[in-house]
Amino acid sequence: MRFISTLLLFFMVLGCGTVAETGRKQINFISDDQMNALGDQAYQDLLSKSRLSKDATLTARTERIGKRVAAASGADFAWEFKLIDDKAVNAFCLPGGKIGVYTGILPIAANDAALAAVVGHEIAHAVLKHGAERMSQNVIMQLGVAVLSEAFSQNKHKDLIAAAIGLGATYGIEMPYSRLHEREADELGMKYMALAGYDPREAVELWGRMSEIQQGGGVPAILSTHPDPDDRAKLLEKDLPKYLPLYEASERQPSTRF
Ligand SMILES: [Zn+2]
Repeated sequence: MRFISTLLLFFMVLGCGTVAETGRKQINFISDDQMNALGDQAYQDLLSKSRLSKDATLTARTERIGKRVAAASGADFAWEFKLIDDKAVNAFCLPGGKIGVYTGILPIAANDAALAAVVGHEIAHAVLKHGAERMSQNVIMQLGVAVLSEAFSQNKHKDLIAAAIGLGATYGIEMPYSRLHEREADELGMKYMALAGYDPREAVELWGRMSEIQQGGGVPAILSTHPDPDDRAKLLEKDLPKYLPLYEASERQPSTRF
């Protein structure tokens, strides 16, 4: 037992890095290569079980906005954006920059800038390596470090890895994310969308619309994993003075309604 705790401590020291964008300390002892491979595998698996949108215009639009916001992040990932034909009001990001947007969120995202807010949030999760951090935390809490190397070497632990990574049964889009991660992704996502030339005020509007749906009794899937939309809209509104100038200095993009 003492050996295990020493080992744990070792990994925690070894794996404690700093999130460059926020200055916060982060426990992450999983390498980018390992994490990206897991993200890639989960993405392929998920896409093979999903139906991609047949709407070429909306698909191209999602990709164009996604790539533009991703480029503004400056992160060197093999970004991929897929529009999935599914009525779930949701979007997700897997490690390494593999992003999925469900068509169900489009009526609420409704224009280019609001969609940029959705993908900006997901891009920020990837850049901040929230998947690896959550996986590291879960490994410490649930699996134990001793299992880690074995888990990576044997495919029979695929489900455990998926659970630890926060991908869960359906690759865990349902798994609750921590409030800290959501807040970080919201703020950094707003910065990225503004740099990319999309009006950051649309992020506030987006979460306002989400809140209205919630008050009307409908609960979009994204809300089962994310904090209260009303709180998010209020916090994002406070962020605006910081990021509006970036938008004003950017090469502004048109934001037409879908
Ligand atoms: Zn999120």
